[in-house]
Amino acid sequence: MKKKPQRSCVCCKATRDKGDLLRVVSLADGSIVYDPTGKAPGRGSYLCRNEECIKTELKKAARLSRGLRRTITDEEAKALAQEMLAAAEKAGSDER
Ligand SMILES: [Zn+2]
Repeated sequence: MKKKPQRSCVCCKATRDKGDLLRVVSLADGSIVYDPTGKAPGRGSYLCRNEECIKTELKKAARLSRGLRRTITDEEAKALAQEMLAAAEKAGSDER
């Protein structure tokens, strides 16, 4: 079996397979986006695919900013949360 890369959630610190986490990346132009491919270049942060972690973390946008070395605005955080919650929901229904 191939060993999968592990990452930990910035919110609850749980270590999971990288593919099981949602990646948020800070792009070279300074924008912070949800990265569904997990391959976008830039500094990434990871979050569990669950509402708790996404909501908790994006509410504390300041902490996410620190991980990404950039300030994230409330609006950006809100937009990100929506995108990631939709992705988490989709992933959940695919598994079922
Ligand atoms: Zn988590």
